[in-house]
Amino acid sequence: MSSFTNLLSKNPIETTKTAVIWAINMLELATKTKAKILQASTSEVYWDPQVNEIKETYRWNVNPVWPRSCYDEWKRIAETFFNNFKLEYKTNIRITRIFNTYWPSMQKNDNRVISNFIIQALENKDITIYWNWKQTRSFQYIDDLIKGLLMLMNSNYKKPVNIWNKENYKIINIIKIILQIIPESKSKIIFKNLPIDDPIYRKPDISLAKKELWYEASVKLKEWLEKQLII
Ligand code: UDP
Repeated sequence: MSSFTNLLSKNPIETTKTAVIWAINMLELATKTKAKILQASTSEVYWDPQVNEIKETYRWNVNPVWPRSCYDEWKRIAETFFNNFKLEYKTNIRITRIFNTYWPSMQKNDNRVISNFIIQALENKDITIYWNWKQTRSFQYIDDLIKGLLMLMNSNYKKPVNIWNKENYKIINIIKIILQIIPESKSKIIFKNLPIDDPIYRKPDISLAKKELWYEASVKLKEWLEKQLII
């Protein structure tokens, strides 16, 4: 769980309130000015999906009263507002659901899995994996995300779409890759409890983005890690 979501769950009421009001305000502004408006929604709206590949039409396995609900529930209600503005006022909306993203300048204290593992391996600290072998994530490089968002904005597609990288990793395998790239690391892997609200499997079905936007991600996580870490 990132420090960002940690922070949100520390101020759950303000988070939900501000974000919902913000979404409505921005939708009103876009409607008035006839601007195109994009919602950067989140894979958290699916919460803990019970399917192998998550299609946009998946009926979500969600929970309104889990610790991080303030985050994914406001994203869900914002999607509802976006859709309702489209239906009632023909507002020119776009919605995408963003999964796990990585980029070169991730902060040391950001507490995301990729940056955590790299820092721990480079500093010979214990590599902390939560729970066990099972959890998976699909990671996309920031440039691919931006390319996909531009393609979405230039399209006419007005329903939620997963614009993502089809690569899917078991979290434990990311540690193996990083330790192969930095064999001199003296880090040990230690197993910690999985946070209570941590989803297990997360893999998007990306066929809709391919069909509607002709989008396909190009950066591969393993190759990017090698480029970053082999000096
Ligand atoms: N994770 C982990 N060790 C860490 C940080 C994260 O095993 O030091 C796991 C976390 O439990 C989750 C996955 O890696 O299953 C992705 O975590 P992250 O916080 O990067 O993203 P999110 O939980 O939002 O998908």
